[in-house]
Amino acid sequence: MRLSHFFLPILKENPREAEIVSHRLMLRAGMIRQQASGSFSWLPLGKRVLDKVCQIIREEQNRSGAQEILMPTIQPADLWMESGRYNDYGKEMLRIRDRQDRPLLYGPTNEEMVTDIFRGYVRSYKDLPLNLYHIQWKFRDEIRPRFGVMRSREFLMKDAYSFDLDYEGAKAAYNRMFVAYLRTFQRMGLQAIPMRAETGPIGGDLSHEFIILASTGESAVFCHRDFLDLPVPPENVDFTNDAQIDEIVAQWTAPYAATDEMHDEEAWATVPEEKRLAARGIEVGHIFHFGTKYSKPMKAAVQGPDGKEHFVSMGSYGIGPTRLVAAIIEASHDENGIIWPQSVAPFDIALINMKVGDSECDRISEELYAAFTEAGREVLYDNTDGRPGAKFATADLIGLPWQVIVGPRGVAAGEVELKNRATGERQNIPVSDAIRRLGAVS
Ligand code: ATP
Ligand code: MG
Repeated sequence: MRLSHFFLPILKENPREAEIVSHRLMLRAGMIRQQASGSFSWLPLGKRVLDKVCQIIREEQNRSGAQEILMPTIQPADLWMESGRYNDYGKEMLRIRDRQDRPLLYGPTNEEMVTDIFRGYVRSYKDLPLNLYHIQWKFRDEIRPRFGVMRSREFLMKDAYSFDLDYEGAKAAYNRMFVAYLRTFQRMGLQAIPMRAETGPIGGDLSHEFIILASTGESAVFCHRDFLDLPVPPENVDFTNDAQIDEIVAQWTAPYAATDEMHDEEAWATVPEEKRLAARGIEVGHIFHFGTKYSKPMKAAVQGPDGKEHFVSMGSYGIGPTRLVAAIIEASHDENGIIWPQSVAPFDIALINMKVGDSECDRISEELYAAFTEAGREVLYDNTDGRPGAKFATADLIGLPWQVIVGPRGVAAGEVELKNRATGERQNIPVSDAIRRLGAVS
């Protein structure tokens, strides 16, 4: 992509409304634009990151055996009357009426609708386990939308729903999602810690929030430092092996970890002082087993091997992709801007032509642009006629992993400068080496 054709509305000034660094940098880098309280448009740079985040989520959901669907944002209120939640949900739910005066709502979540899909088709335990997910916009009329896309009213959620014959099956489904989440966040360059969460009236221990440590996080969290060194399961982890998956979950739930709502001073006191990590965190995912809470009132049952009807045991599993983009920035930036992990970077390489119009600079830049593109790298080629200083500032701000700088002095010596955005390391190398090196960036 040539910068001259790319819609990248960079802000020079720090936006006053932004209280936290991710919000500030997303606005400054032209990733998002606020349209109303808690509602944002995603501009090209932001959309590219959001798509990469969603793709990682999708790949790991699929790997764990979940299947993607897509349900509508607008839901009929009837389903929510059946489950009893229409009255319980409160003011966070946006209630709407159509021209026939039928009550509708903008979905804050999809348990009812997916249960309706399930009961419409599935009759036998032989069709289980089943896990259906979608990545769809939600609306929650938050009292205090703030921090940009971190806590917005309209936001994207990946929500998965598992259906099993009994508690044992549901627990195995829960464990698979737990492991998928560990892999998902790691692939985005994040260290997410699963923490025991409130299970409400359902009870049990099957509810975890996945928390990224960050000083700007909204939750106070307490955890054992051992989490920082636990191994994340590899790509070839066998999701069909319940015992192996259970073992991973056991390992990842053994050390102490809790948000302030679940914090237990007595248990905390048993963690050696030097291992205690009291910090703040951002919730990026939440997994929850709720049994027959919806299947019973909505009559979603299957025939078991005993020939009897069983209400299915369910769980739901959320991740916030829009919030994640902000969380990644909270975890990875410096005073000059964003530092994208390779896996979610909007482009791999910022190719900076320092002297547009200089025939040699133009020729080498074009040659590199073609070669990187040919090698499958995504390149943002700064071919604008701005000052070098402004170009460097933009490149640092938008945080692409590599900068390749083409200037008259280097070009005369057959060299370009390579800069690693994360380490700041700079190196002058021959043009052909630059092509070889960055053509192979993984
Ligand atoms: P929170 O405690 O932060 O209000 P929640 O517990 O209401 O979130 P869930 O219902 O568990 O959220 O939703 C699943 C995921 O959706 C969350 O882990 C988060 O990543 C994302 N999410 C929830 N609310 C918002 C919001 N207002 N803005 C952006 N993302 C959100
Ligand atoms: Mg939650």
